[in-house]
Amino acid sequence: FYSSGSGAVDPPPSAMALMAGVIRRLDEVVVNRIAAGEVIQRPANAIKEMVENCLDAKSTSIQVTVKEGGLKLIQVQDNGCGIRKEDLDIVCERFTTSKLQTFEDLASISTYGFRGEALASISHVAHVTVTTKTADAKCAYRYASYCDGKLKAPPKPCAGNQGTQITVEDLFYNVNTRRKALKNPSEEYAKILEVISRYAIHNSGISFAVKKQGDTVADVRTLSNATTVDNIRSVFGNAVSRELIEVGCEDTRLAFKVKGYITNANYSVKKCIFLLFINHRLVESTALRKAIETVYAAYLPKGTHPFLYLSLEIAPQNVDVNVHPTKHEVHFLHEDSILEHVQQHVESKLLGSNSSRMYFTQTLLPSADCSSTEVVKSAASSSLTSKGTGDKVYAHQMVRTDAREQKLDAFLQPVNKSLSTGPAAVTPGSSSELCDGKARQQEAEMEDLSDFNTITVAQGDTAVLPEELKETGRLSPETLPPRKRQRADSDVEMEEDHSRNEMTAACTPRRRIINLTSVLTLQEEVNNQAHTSLQEMLRDHSFVGCVSPQWALAQYQTKLYLLNTTKLSEELFYQILVFDFANFGVLRLSEPAPLYELAMLALENPESGWTEEDGPKEGLAEYIVEFLKKKTEMLRDYFSLEIDEVGNLTGLPLLIDNYVPPLEGLPMFILRLATEVNWDEERECFESLSKELAMFYSIRKQYMLDESNLTSSQNEDLDSGSKTWKWTVEHIVYKALRTHLLPPKHFTEDGNILQLANLPDLYRVFERC
Ligand code: ADP
Ligand code: MG
Repeated sequence: FYSSGSGAVDPPPSAMALMAGVIRRLDEVVVNRIAAGEVIQRPANAIKEMVENCLDAKSTSIQVTVKEGGLKLIQVQDNGCGIRKEDLDIVCERFTTSKLQTFEDLASISTYGFRGEALASISHVAHVTVTTKTADAKCAYRYASYCDGKLKAPPKPCAGNQGTQITVEDLFYNVNTRRKALKNPSEEYAKILEVISRYAIHNSGISFAVKKQGDTVADVRTLSNATTVDNIRSVFGNAVSRELIEVGCEDTRLAFKVKGYITNANYSVKKCIFLLFINHRLVESTALRKAIETVYAAYLPKGTHPFLYLSLEIAPQNVDVNVHPTKHEVHFLHEDSILEHVQQHVESKLLGSNSSRMYFTQTLLPSADCSSTEVVKSAASSSLTSKGTGDKVYAHQMVRTDAREQKLDAFLQPVNKSLSTGPAAVTPGSSSELCDGKARQQEAEMEDLSDFNTITVAQGDTAVLPEELKETGRLSPETLPPRKRQRADSDVEMEEDHSRNEMTAACTPRRRIINLTSVLTLQEEVNNQAHTSLQEMLRDHSFVGCVSPQWALAQYQTKLYLLNTTKLSEELFYQILVFDFANFGVLRLSEPAPLYELAMLALENPESGWTEEDGPKEGLAEYIVEFLKKKTEMLRDYFSLEIDEVGNLTGLPLLIDNYVPPLEGLPMFILRLATEVNWDEERECFESLSKELAMFYSIRKQYMLDESNLTSSQNEDLDSGSKTWKWTVEHIVYKALRTHLLPPKHFTEDGNILQLANLPDLYRVFERC
């Protein structure tokens, strides 16, 4: 092999291995035997294929008999349509099928089979006998000894009922390695029982039986009139079947539906039992199993698992069943979204099933006086009482049931002793506090005025104003007549409400209906982004406390969340602006605030980014005033942002009752109003303007005064009049978040809503310690 040419370098010895081999066509028998090994890995695979054929043939009774775990004999008898005599000589050839004709048919395939490979494969690794009778044939025919796909002996007419019986003997007689690997017949038999019982549960209405040859009693038997739950009971026992919850949901957009039965939190086993059918095929999906098990992790004791039977139907054109010859796996479109959907549905069903469970309240917080062993029974739990206390309630499942009990503040020692006498006093906003004279008087004032949808804020609230603003923007009590809403404009109409009597009609301003496409589009965008489980969490949360002006803690079920108050409040105000567009009340400033001075204040703030190159501040400020003066009509009409003829700001929109935006942010807002808003396009204008307003109204740390740093005289101001920011955040902002916010999906991803802890996980950590 060595080159003898002059100057040639000796090739390395490994070049021997690089020599190209001769390519030969494999013998057909070898090809088929190799392929067979892929489809038929063990007796249970063969039985699965044969049972699927019975189902494809519309059988209503399927009986399986097995000897030595299927290695010696598998016999499957059905009462289906049978096989036509003419087809019998090719039925065991590879790629012969009655189910699929063109490749396109695959997209809408409704039978299990389509590859025409199963019987052929089996006949390449075993001795196959087929006895079959169709409805119109006079007698049955037995075709014995298919060997390597070909019929070896001539057919014999014989007696028989309609249907097909296929016998498979000596599986893997010609594949030594495989036969040796499958030494344990009882293991194989267990696999067979598993496959058949799963098909039996999924196909209620069809009777199944599996038995060992010679036995009179079947090991799995279901009846044709039994329900799915009956079948689950007969296979898995009462312990499972009595704890089942029915599930079912569908989504037309993702073109799928799911139904099935799952166990509730009272049931758990060491190993997860998951029966998954996708388009009626028994498949496995680790992703879906994991998704659902994470939901259960919150409900079941550590290291235990549920029973799940789920049947997913996905539009056939979205599913690829042709991933593997065993069809054990399927691929489908929108997998992640569908998984998430199923996961959420399971979670909601599990939650809903809790009416029959028992909870303990526990003392999680210092000095809350409730006994840690007190049992709280839910109203629907009468059946439970008769069951006794056999069901153990694990500590990690305990949920604090009274949101009002105690808050974060109870743990914190007040820095400024003059503020309080004990923990109770720094916990603001207990309902009794509202009853003290001052607050009640203020509330009454507000009630009177709210008839006019125009709120004037009490004097005391100026305590939060910085010195500069006190001069220009003092707020004081002032009563105003209702604003006129009439406009000739055709895209803004008045909503007529004749159901009200004249008295109330006179006092309640009628709501204007907004038909502007721009606004409707913005509303739709918010709706499309909404995340339902976040919304549920916000609606039903228990407020735990403010960590800082920017961050707050809230509890929902067994989970503790860290919420970005700044971002949440900003989104809240944006959504109010978009949904109540052109329908706001007015927060009237007691003294008009000159736009010029506000603009100057903003430009002096380094945050504005002003540089010498921008020209003199005075010139810019004048320009801003003139520019905004041109927009007054629109600002007033749509946003209740009022500017008078001489360039003073006189009113701001009232977005939530009793809430005044931190006016320290006003100068910057005015500057940004003139410079950051897109004034050219309608939709962009409303959107950017709402965003700017929302930012101005949001709870931002740079504008929140820390009470602990106040002098004692300022503290007195606080005590006597305005609410602290903490009170406002809890009782105004978070209260409004419950009902007024459609939280966008991205909050779950961008860290604005973070799950800090989950009780079951905490228990897991401590169990390990
Ligand atoms: P496939 O199911 O993919 O068509 P198979 O090799 O499993 O391929 O079966 C080949 C053909 O044999 C089927 O298309 C069907 O016509 C016929 N067949 C197999 N088993 C049965 C049965 N139990 N009843 C009626 N026909 C059957
Ligand atoms: Mg088949």
